[in-house]
Amino acid sequence: MLIRLANTVLDLLFPPRCVLCHAFLEKGEEEICPKCAKSVLSLQYRQRALRPFVRCISALPYEGVYRESIARYKFGGRRFYAETYAAWLAALIREELDGSFDVMTWIPISRKRLRKRGFDQSELLCRGAGEFLGAEVVSALRKTRDNPPQSTMKNAEARKQNVRDVFAVSDPEQIRGKRVLLLDDILTTGNSMQVCARELLRAGAQSVVGCTLASV
Ligand SMILES: [Zn+2]
Repeated sequence: MLIRLANTVLDLLFPPRCVLCHAFLEKGEEEICPKCAKSVLSLQYRQRALRPFVRCISALPYEGVYRESIARYKFGGRRFYAETYAAWLAALIREELDGSFDVMTWIPISRKRLRKRGFDQSELLCRGAGEFLGAEVVSALRKTRDNPPQSTMKNAEARKQNVRDVFAVSDPEQIRGKRVLLLDDILTTGNSMQVCARELLRAGAQSVVGCTLASV
């Protein structure tokens, strides 16, 4: 009773809004509005040829309401979006990458950024999707220093330099001889994904497939 009352008060103070377009939801609607639900269902996943990945795919286009939604997730305190996103990722992975990996892992943020944000956005997505899929999730990579965001780099060469030697495999035992699914939030140039995939292979992973929530 108390919990239900608390939920009612919360709903009055913060009426539930659509995860994507941020419109207020009607009673009985959960997470997303009917219009966005329809557009998500008609989305085609994206695939990018990116070495050394066997395949690298993304669930959403990084534009419009999707981009705004992810910004609220990462910077606007909407940590709970992770569950909705993870369900979408799990559906895509089940459809497209089933049978092509043994363990899942993610590209970590630095400890400094983790303290600031309070959560690692890609870790939440990976653990959430892993739970939906019943797949093993391992913490295989760590960030060795806090580099500036890739979006602040002026050109391709700077972006490449910016992620050089930034990631290391923390525990090779977890991935040795295994096929790894590497997950991240947004695929832009793909530099971070490539650097991490190479580190995983160098540490003994058998192969790497990639999946991101969104891609440009
Ligand atoms: Zn909507």
